[in-house]
Amino acid sequence: MIRPVQHVATMAPYALADLGGDLISMAQNESAFPPSPKALVAAHEEASQARLYPDPDWSDLRQAISEKHVLDPNMILCGAGSMELIGCLIRAYSGPGRVVLGSAYSYAFVATASLQAQAPYRQLPEPGLTVSVDAILDNVTPDLAVVFLCNPGNPTGTMVPNADILRLREDLPSDVLLVIDQAYAEFCDAAQGPSEIFALAGRGDTVVLRTFSKAYALAGARVGWGCFPPAIAGEVRKLLNPNNIPTASQSMAAAAMRDQDHMRRIVARTGHIRDAFSESCRAIGIDVLPSNTNFVLLRFDSADRAARVDRALRRSGLLMRGMAGYGLPDCLRATICDAPVMERATAVLKEALS
Ligand SMILES: *Cc1c(COP(=O)(O)O)cnc(C)c1O
Repeated sequence: MIRPVQHVATMAPYALADLGGDLISMAQNESAFPPSPKALVAAHEEASQARLYPDPDWSDLRQAISEKHVLDPNMILCGAGSMELIGCLIRAYSGPGRVVLGSAYSYAFVATASLQAQAPYRQLPEPGLTVSVDAILDNVTPDLAVVFLCNPGNPTGTMVPNADILRLREDLPSDVLLVIDQAYAEFCDAAQGPSEIFALAGRGDTVVLRTFSKAYALAGARVGWGCFPPAIAGEVRKLLNPNNIPTASQSMAAAAMRDQDHMRRIVARTGHIRDAFSESCRAIGIDVLPSNTNFVLLRFDSADRAARVDRALRRSGLLMRGMAGYGLPDCLRATICDAPVMERATAVLKEALS
């Protein structure tokens, strides 16, 4: 028998959302709207270059990102999705005896990446389904290596104010790497004033991650990026797959970054539909957390009720994300889709709860 190494043999595969065959997916936080038309033109133009390996330094893409966010291009790394960057960061900075700390309902891939790296992963309580900076600071131990903070949170959609993140960084030991995953930040950048979090990378101990998968509507292109201290960028690069992002994906992402108007329209339309859907859900007695993202977390009065609603949605051709795997069996997470889909979802919820 061919045996895998022990830590691989015992780990469960990463649980992607159930894709549900013909069901309309409201399960993966994909964009309700298509990407920038300029990204589509760019992909078409670059398809003829498929004979060649892609630019291993993502030069034009980094240029586009650095211009928009006013960042030093040398501090930008790009990944095949931000998942690749998360995996490489955890492999580079944690491991056996080097703890990764996250919160109770944090992004599930961090648990998988920690298992891959054989790093202990600890999750702290999230009172009110919001990350507690004080809980993190109260749990600093000598073996703490990486703190992972998803802000806004997935699957909660809630957010910690920038001032709390600045305080967290100030009070964490400087040999603890802080990774701030801002996969949904474009949905609340306008409200927050963006740059003070990126500036933390200048300290040398903090990484800020973003993605093209959500607000830029390019989940299928697999492009994530982050602002890294140069020394950390150097280490993580050793672990990235060389030539990790296909040429067409790089050019789509660069074009999407240069079309901020299109991204802002996606954010505005999504937010409008999200807020109307949240109101309809509250009107029929569902507890809906305020969301700063393109999804909402629906909380029912029991796990049983959530399961029954899930079945009713599936019978009607709709698939939300069950949250039992996240320790929230009384919740369903609903990605915001276009208005007709949300109206259909509202009708099913009304019927199921009446
Ligand atoms: C969607 C998501 C990502 C992005 O993953 P990609 O690999 O860039 O598609 C990262 N973190 C969180 C919390 C997410 O929800």
